[in-house]
Amino acid sequence: MIFIISLSIIFYFICMEIDKPTPTENPLMGECPDCSEKVESGWLVCPQCRVVLRETCQGCGKVHDRWVKYCPWCRYLNATAST
Ligand SMILES: [Zn+2]
Ligand SMILES: [Zn+2]
Repeated sequence: MIFIISLSIIFYFICMEIDKPTPTENPLMGECPDCSEKVESGWLVCPQCRVVLRETCQGCGKVHDRWVKYCPWCRYLNATAST
């Protein structure tokens, strides 16, 4: 009897785990510097006008999104996005 109860408790917890809503990721959004279309962080090109959205930082050499105002790694002012 105890075995059945404990089994049902375990089953209940398994169901709770399954029912858990998956955390919705909220990716960083920006605007295409060319056509102002909403773009997501990490995209290589704009899906609207195919302009390249990634560029190499002149301060640290890391590749970041073109539409960010400052490089997230070295705070280098991004001239492309500031206009
Ligand atoms: Zn675009
Ligand atoms: Zn940088």
